[in-house]
Amino acid sequence: MTRILAIANQKGGVAKTTTVESLGAALADLDVSVLVVDLDPQGCLTFSLGHDPDQLETSVHDVLLGDEEITDVLLDTEDKVTLLPATIDLAGAEALLLMRPGREYALKRALAEVAEDFDVILVDCPPSLGVLTLNGLTAADEVIVPLQCETLAHRGVGQLLRTVREVQQITNPNLKMLGAVATLFDARTTHSRDVLSDVSDRYDLPVLDPPIPRTVRFAEASASGSSVMRGRKNKGATAYRALAENLWKHWDAGEDVRTYDLTAQ
Ligand code: ADP
Ligand code: MG
Repeated sequence: MTRILAIANQKGGVAKTTTVESLGAALADLDVSVLVVDLDPQGCLTFSLGHDPDQLETSVHDVLLGDEEITDVLLDTEDKVTLLPATIDLAGAEALLLMRPGREYALKRALAEVAEDFDVILVDCPPSLGVLTLNGLTAADEVIVPLQCETLAHRGVGQLLRTVREVQQITNPNLKMLGAVATLFDARTTHSRDVLSDVSDRYDLPVLDPPIPRTVRFAEASASGSSVMRGRKNKGATAYRALAENLWKHWDAGEDVRTYDLTAQ
């Protein structure tokens, strides 16, 4: 059975794309077959997986509009995952899709064609709550929310959770909120932990184990266009591997996803 996980937060810079890329690579290392979907017109995921969005003839945009078969658009990557790429064309998809009936279901319909080929599909949502994110949430079985553990991290979380509830009521009753992923986490201070427990309490949102530490290796990796999961060992990659194992146990063995105990330590 294919599991479709949306990674959503309308705030930019909270590590959605980094989480999709790193989780995808870590799951592939567990011999899980992974498709990653770039739903952001900026194409950052596409770029970081080694494809220049400006050079692509077709993308998820054409698939959502029904102009291309999804199987003709998928790309292989250096990370062992398959990519449904985005280009800047996708910026126009919002407006074009708005005029279509069933506009929230376009991605779900496309993914149904390839679902049997993949164990896990990770959807990188754009930094907005528009029709593209609604497509991601409508196609998904579960959603996780990357949260940057800094002051004001809670801003927008209420609105995101409201959108998730609306999707559950209208287009996808089976959608499950798995919880938050703490990103850019600084274990040396109590600040990250305080922010996280505030958001978690306020919105009754479990935090998945483990948090992802802040590490300079991520900035280095994006600058060089290579994944943080390759190359030297580092604590960011180790954390994403542990998160991938946590999620895979949940999917494969039906276990509850393991959560992070904010009261410990
Ligand atoms: P989003 O997709 O939510 O906009 P990105 O994944 O693009 O966020 O990440 C935003 C920036 O934060 C990028 O420059 C990325 O390299 C950096 N980053 C992500 N995770 C970490 C981390 N754990 N430590 C340090 N920098 C990180
Ligand atoms: Mg992004």
